[in-house]
Amino acid sequence: MKKIFGIQNFRLCQEGVCNANMDGRDVVCIMPTGGGKSLTYQLPAVLTPGCTLVISPLISLMRDQILHLKEAGVNAVMLTGGTPKQSVNEIQSRLASMATTESNDNEIKLCYVTPEKIAKNQRFIALLQKLYNGKKFARIVIDEAHCVSDLGHDFRPDYKKLSVLRHVFPDIPILALSATCPPKVLQDILKILQMGPVVDGKAAPLHGTVHFSAPLYRKNLHYTILPKPSSAKEVISTMSEYILQNHKNESGIVYCLTKKDAETTAEALGTISKGAIKTGVYHSDVPDDIKERLHTLWREGTVQVVCATIAFGLGIDKGNVRFVLHHTARIFIAHLSTQKSLDGYYQESGRAGRDGKDADCVLYYRPQDATRLSSIICSEAAEGQTKLRDMLRFAQDMKECRKILFAKYFSASSDLAMNSWTTEEANAMDRCNHCDNCTRPPESIANKDVTLEAWQILKTLAAVESRGGRVTINGIGDLARGLGGGKFDANVGGKRKKAKESVQLDCEAVAGGKLQLSKDDAEALIIHLLINDYLKEVFLSTAYTVNVYVVSGAKALRISRF
Ligand code: ADP
Repeated sequence: MKKIFGIQNFRLCQEGVCNANMDGRDVVCIMPTGGGKSLTYQLPAVLTPGCTLVISPLISLMRDQILHLKEAGVNAVMLTGGTPKQSVNEIQSRLASMATTESNDNEIKLCYVTPEKIAKNQRFIALLQKLYNGKKFARIVIDEAHCVSDLGHDFRPDYKKLSVLRHVFPDIPILALSATCPPKVLQDILKILQMGPVVDGKAAPLHGTVHFSAPLYRKNLHYTILPKPSSAKEVISTMSEYILQNHKNESGIVYCLTKKDAETTAEALGTISKGAIKTGVYHSDVPDDIKERLHTLWREGTVQVVCATIAFGLGIDKGNVRFVLHHTARIFIAHLSTQKSLDGYYQESGRAGRDGKDADCVLYYRPQDATRLSSIICSEAAEGQTKLRDMLRFAQDMKECRKILFAKYFSASSDLAMNSWTTEEANAMDRCNHCDNCTRPPESIANKDVTLEAWQILKTLAAVESRGGRVTINGIGDLARGLGGGKFDANVGGKRKKAKESVQLDCEAVAGGKLQLSKDDAEALIIHLLINDYLKEVFLSTAYTVNVYVVSGAKALRISRF
């Protein structure tokens, strides 16, 4: 390890994976991006006789790996659809002769292939059989193993066909690697690849699978939620300023919801920064050759920022991504439509800092986004509500350390858990001391006692409700602040306008004066009350306004602080 890879000490669960792997076990290893998965098969590959087959969906990543391995003097090759015929022939004949030679000299230690090669190429399978019969087939490594499962988000049909491997090579150990693997996807991987039942870290019978997972927390990532301005133009100039001030000439990603958004954001960032920020666009409609070119330009730094939809993910093999920015509202919707929320955010933001150096993950958040969105989500299944709440809870939280918030989320959501932390571990975790919530100045609203303000809001709502009124989040804030406004529709008795005025007067009387908070803070407080179940949201599809907020009595008394 020291001599060939220049690595001094094992990290995370690398040593265990190497040992289990070299012991001939099937292994599943879940490790965060940048954690060091490659070493877990490259080291066994150079230490044992024969060839290690590595299946990876990413040609650019393979190219990188081969380059590094060659520099380290390791004999490694790759075979993809794009490999020139002459090279294919040469590599295949080298493998064939390796199969029939007794000596281990000049062996190809690692052979990287795309899944298509296994799924569609009988000739290649026959070649592997020769290696197998000649006892020169060391192990099978399946990188990005979650792609085998159609329950996951990166399903690749060719990956599913990798099931053939266990069938043809029953006793060749399989190492499945992934950075993201909820339990049901894990079960799918085990089933499709025909790996044995998981035996948690303990000695397993032959083909019993040993399962390793490393903590997902990466301390070089600095999470921050920044206020998002109301106009689209201001959002762009805020981002532009942020990038120029904090990451001038450094590489980053801006995630947008729609293809159109990605395009307009890329253009606007370029214009507003007067060309100081060189941007590129990536989404599913961008032709493959342009995508490939963008990757190259981005890797070499000619393009600084890629404005992308969540299609930009798998295949990012760039270590020095110094920042990942998100448009708040967009991630809410994006994740609802692809059935994920905070884990999706965790993954996307996790594309920063793969090289282990400091990187920033910034979420632009505006509480009002949530009010607009909640009307959309209200009409969807309850699941959508939960997801929005998870994301809101994270964005809205101004006290708890972001690391702990992630840990609690991943340990609590049984469906999405990444086998990372138990609830006890999450609760006992130390603060990271470098996220926005760990470094927030004492004078912020997060540290203010808002008992009175919360009470005023609840009283205002009670007054509205007792008059049969309905009001949105914007409306409550404005009413409580003595401004009226919002779409208030007191449709019981009298004219609408009149009813509105009378309730407004009442609110001041019942709530002991005007709410002394800014519009943003008032709305932040209301959402806080909502996601912590002090308020309940009711959707009336026939109503003029969409949301009704009802004080839930018992809990209302327990509010003290944010
Ligand atoms: P992954 O595939 O898990 O995303 P990589 O295998 O590409 O991560 O490793 C990420 C970086 O970490 C690489 O630059 C690698 O050389 C480095 N690395 C891996 N293991 C160690 C280690 N034990 N100590 C120091 N650096 C390491």
